[in-house]
Amino acid sequence: MRIVIVGAGIVGAALADQLAARRGGDVVLIDRSSPGWGTSRASFAWLNANQKQPRAYFDFSVEAMREWGDLAAEFGEPSWYQPVGNLAWARSAPACEELVERVDRLRAWGYGAEVITASRAQKLEPNVMIPSDAQIAFFPDEGYVCGRRAAQALVQRATSLGATLITDKEVSELVVSQHQVTGVRLADGQRIAAETVVCCAGWRSPELLAPLGIDLALTASTPGSGARGLTVTIGGITPRPDRVIHTPELDVRPNGEGQLLLEASDIDRRVDMAGENDPLDGCAQELLTRARILIPAAASATIVEASLCVRPLPLDGHPLVGPVAGQQGLYIAVSHSGITLAPALARHVAPELLGAESPVLRHYRPDRTSTRIPLRRADGGSF
Ligand SMILES: Cc1cc2nc3c(=O)[nH]c(=O)nc-3n(C[C@H](O)[C@H](O)[C@H](O)COP(=O)(O)OP(=O)(O)OC[C@H]3O[C@@H](n4cnc5c(N)ncnc54)[C@H](O)[C@@H]3O)c2cc1C
Repeated sequence: MRIVIVGAGIVGAALADQLAARRGGDVVLIDRSSPGWGTSRASFAWLNANQKQPRAYFDFSVEAMREWGDLAAEFGEPSWYQPVGNLAWARSAPACEELVERVDRLRAWGYGAEVITASRAQKLEPNVMIPSDAQIAFFPDEGYVCGRRAAQALVQRATSLGATLITDKEVSELVVSQHQVTGVRLADGQRIAAETVVCCAGWRSPELLAPLGIDLALTASTPGSGARGLTVTIGGITPRPDRVIHTPELDVRPNGEGQLLLEASDIDRRVDMAGENDPLDGCAQELLTRARILIPAAASATIVEASLCVRPLPLDGHPLVGPVAGQQGLYIAVSHSGITLAPALARHVAPELLGAESPVLRHYRPDRTSTRIPLRRADGGSF
């Protein structure tokens, strides 16, 4: 009755944790690298349901935010979970209008959201230059997670419950016998049999599934596809802001002692269009320049790390979760906004793998037609 999970990013790690609690010794988690070292490591990792639509997807995201709170309580309020709130502002007339409309909609849906004055925002974040003419909103229940450390903690708990972790081994193929996936083969030739294989390989999932004739509805990872992004960690900032901050020029959040993580949607687009070997130093430097304008204490900050990363971005933006018709023994769990969603995905997928179908996941089946759930990407970002 073995279940093999391919991929120990935040999605695979959360699932291993949930499954191990039910079937410890039957769970095998395999990663070509180590837990949390893929997209989850460099993700902006903002926990939110801020721009999630339609309502079912919003509700699922809110459930996931609650799950993170519950998980953190179980782990003794670890530093990888930071429900610090999110401050966002807009300047242009259409963006201001959109922000106010969004706050109204979110409030009507029972979500923590309020329009606040510049002086209130300045009290919340005294170390940030907040324009006095901006339209500002505060979302107190949002926050961020350190994806790599959260994945490591979840995997550690799964192994303590009996799950087996195999690191630095690539799954080179899914083994199929008469339309039934019966296990995986590792790059070194080793074969591991399984009753069910769960594909949690993030943006690399299509290459694993293609030999089975499965064309996963995931955006390509090639330049210009919209899947690639750049996050930059800068260090040496004291005092630094405490919250997630979204401005028209820059997205910022804390990233450990004296450090900030930076991203910007226009820079992501520039990075996305760059060739495979184009240097990205200029883009990283531009993020640092913007941070220096926004945060006075970043005047002498330096770049600690710049990460080019790939979003596992389904064509319609929504998770791809479930079995595949005509292919027994295979289950797929690949999602954008996977940091936010991972614990809720795991909470629903684990019982499903053991036979109890989840009504929530019916919206997200991998073989849904791309017209069933409309594509929504909000002004270049889609979190
Ligand atoms: C720039 C950027 C910003 C983002 N911002 C946010 C945000 O603010 N909020 C949010 O919720 N989400 C955000 N996301 C999306 C989020 O980071 C991802 O949805 C999430 O990290 C996906 O997790 P995962 O476990 O599916 O994938 P990954 O973390 O990539 O994990 C997949 C794992 O599978 C392993 N693997 C792959 N192929 C194989 C193989 N053949 N054999 C063995 N192992 C294999 C990899 O080594 C990896 O560890 C962002 C993404 C990017 C790129």
